[in-house]
Amino acid sequence: MTSIFSSNILKEGPKMARYRNVANKISGGPAYDLILAVERYVYNYPSSSNESIHHQDIDLTSIAIQSISISENTALHKVLHELAYIEFYLYLYDDIDWVDNIFDFAEYATSMFPEMNLETPIEFLSKQESDIYYAKKKYDQYFIHGLNHLVNSAFAVLWHRKSFLLDFNLKIAEKIRPLKKCDFPMLEQDGRVPRTTYFKKWIQNAIQLRERGNCHYCGRVVASPAIANQEYDIDHMVPIAQGGTNDPTNLVLSCPSCNNDKRASIRSFDDVFNWPKIN
Ligand SMILES: [Zn+2]
Repeated sequence: MTSIFSSNILKEGPKMARYRNVANKISGGPAYDLILAVERYVYNYPSSSNESIHHQDIDLTSIAIQSISISENTALHKVLHELAYIEFYLYLYDDIDWVDNIFDFAEYATSMFPEMNLETPIEFLSKQESDIYYAKKKYDQYFIHGLNHLVNSAFAVLWHRKSFLLDFNLKIAEKIRPLKKCDFPMLEQDGRVPRTTYFKKWIQNAIQLRERGNCHYCGRVVASPAIANQEYDIDHMVPIAQGGTNDPTNLVLSCPSCNNDKRASIRSFDDVFNWPKIN
C-alpha cells in the first residue's frame, strides 16, 4: 500500500514527496488506507516524521473526555475523522498548488469520489485548468462531508477487531489517568470517569449483534431470543479504574460471572478468525 505519508518529506522536499505520492495513488482504496493510518497511530508507528507531527496534533485528551458519555459518534470515529482530514483533505484537497500538472489532482480526487459516495463535479472533467480551481473551491465542504463515508467504512471493519479496540482504549486510558478532577470537574475522581451503568437499547443491540450473543470472555451464549430471563453484563474492556471510558469501542458483552471474575483487571486476547473447514 502507498500512504500519503510514505515519502520522507524532509529528505526530498515537500513538493517532490507529495508529487510522488499522487503518482503512486492509494493501492487499497482510501478506507483501507485509513485503517492502516489509524493502526500506525494507535501503535505509535508513524510512517514518516511528517505523520508523527500530525499525530501529535490530534487532541486525544479532548476526545477521551468526550467519551465519558456514550455517543454513536465514538472516540474511534473522531480519531478516524481527524486522520481522514489530515491524509485526504489537507494533502489532497486543500492545497493543490504543489501539483505540477493540475489534471493529476482532478484524476486523483475523482478516483476517490465513488468510494466517498460523491458525484464527481463536472468541472473536474473539464480541460480548463481554471475550472478545476473553481471546482475545488466550490466542492470544498462537499469533499469534507464525503470523508464521513470513509470513516464509517473503516469503522465498520474495526468495530469487529476487538483486540485493536482494546489497544485503542488503552491509548485513551493513558490520557485519562493523569487528569485531575480539579481541572476536569466532569471526572468522578482523579484519573477516573463516571461509570455508566445504564445502556440504551441501541448500544446493547450493537454489542449483542457483534458478539452474536456470546460472552466476550468465555464464549457462553448469554443473550439470545431463545433464552428466557437473559442475564448479561456490558463490560468495560479497559476498566474505569484504569482510565477506561464509556465509549462504545470499550464495551463488550459479558456473562455476570466473567464480569465478576474480571473486576478491575484487563484481559488481553488475540482476534481469532475462524474459517469453516470442508469435511
Ligand atoms: Zn463469560
